[in-house]
Amino acid sequence: MPTRRMARGSRAQPETDRSLVTAEPPGEVDVTIVGGGILGLAAARELTRRHPALQAAVLEREPKLACHQTGHNSGVIHGGIYYASGSLKAQLCVAGARELYDFCDESQTPYKRCGKLIVARNPSELPRLDELERRGRANGVPGLRRLGAAELREVEPHCRGVSALHSPQTGIVDFAAVARALAAELEANGTPVVTRCEVTGVERRAHRIALVHGRGETRARFAVFCAGGWSDRLAVKAGASAEPRIVPFRGAYLRVCPERRHMVRGLIYPVPDPSLPFLGVHLSRHLDGEVSLGPTALLALARDGYRLSHARLRDAADSLVWPGTWRMARRWWRTGLIEIRHATSRRALARAASDYVPGLEPRDFLPYFAGVRAQALRRDGRLVDDFVVSTTERALHVRNAPSPAATSALALARLIADRAEAAFE
Ligand SMILES: Cc1cc2nc3c(=O)[nH]c(=O)nc-3n(C[C@H](O)[C@H](O)[C@H](O)COP(=O)(O)OP(=O)(O)OC[C@H]3O[C@@H](n4cnc5c(N)ncnc54)[C@H](O)[C@@H]3O)c2cc1C
Repeated sequence: MPTRRMARGSRAQPETDRSLVTAEPPGEVDVTIVGGGILGLAAARELTRRHPALQAAVLEREPKLACHQTGHNSGVIHGGIYYASGSLKAQLCVAGARELYDFCDESQTPYKRCGKLIVARNPSELPRLDELERRGRANGVPGLRRLGAAELREVEPHCRGVSALHSPQTGIVDFAAVARALAAELEANGTPVVTRCEVTGVERRAHRIALVHGRGETRARFAVFCAGGWSDRLAVKAGASAEPRIVPFRGAYLRVCPERRHMVRGLIYPVPDPSLPFLGVHLSRHLDGEVSLGPTALLALARDGYRLSHARLRDAADSLVWPGTWRMARRWWRTGLIEIRHATSRRALARAASDYVPGLEPRDFLPYFAGVRAQALRRDGRLVDDFVVSTTERALHVRNAPSPAATSALALARLIADRAEAAFE
């Protein structure tokens, strides 16, 4: 039985969340950052560290920080294995993880380097594991090693497979706690982080960009949008193209009952399908001792669709009228059927775990939380794999920041600051 009760679809929040409505939105600043997730906060920190005299403000629509992707994920500090050379992910994940560990040390944010296995269950998966090993070595993943069937059981005694990649430096953290630590540093240095402040309009003025929100407007010389699931809408308001469109994918998790948690020491991942930008259903230990299984990947009918039944007309319509959604559905309908089964049947999802850890049975799993991925989708139906950053007049937009963007946040923030400086002279 569960040791503590938790609302379905939500993760426990600390009792003292120090970033509740702490400031009034300023009327005029140099730079406004929209979005109080890990990326917006990391970008604000990078810009204000580079330019200490810069007046900046972070505007967040929710009453708390990290309410969306940053607060609903696997909590894995990725090692940087998967990413194709030349991609932003390949460039930023290894550096981002290193910087994140340093930041956690400085800010006393707890984390654990628990290590990760990517496990090939049968010989047919070995060529893909070889390719992952090649990529991991090209990306400079520290400590990466290849294990045989017996060696992998030394790392995870209850796991079965024919071969595995072991990344001992992969770790776990609560990214919401990282976001709060970033906000604390910003506020201590005089940068307001304003919650309950939804940006609803973007207007160009002489030498300024004005962000209209429920509490008036904030004018700035430049704006950085890190709005996750709503990034495409804000970009369009600022004059950008409608492509790529954000389509929300709900990712639900189960958790292992306390009596069976000892069967997973760290992180156990499958060999993923290389044509999809998702890493597959995995077993993950969390800092609070829970072990999760997930996430699923099912198209959601709301951009904050944490419950399976939650639909919002505008969000559903935005996905359904986008030609890319139908092209994606035509290409991926078989995968879609499997995902529907995983999303609707605890037993089916639990079976995905017993492929790797045969001792785990469906009755060992309990409901847990869900996250919603803000996934960019091209008009031609391609799911955008890499990070996407673009600019409009006086603004920069992060238009695709899927996993491992939380791991990469501090390195991605440097790229954002570089591009903002270039666009802003
Ligand atoms: C299920 C799942 C598992 C994942 N696992 C991992 C993992 O293990 N490791 C990893 O590195 N990454 C992981 N990720 C990815 C990671 O969570 C995201 O890449 C990262 O959190 C993105 O941060 P963000 O700040 O861009 O987005 P968000 O955290 O979504 O923040 C965007 C913010 O913008 C705000 N906002 C939106 N519109 C407005 C507006 N109009 N006005 C004001 N504010 C606005 C939102 O309220 C939100 O707070 C996972 C994601 C999911 C969904």
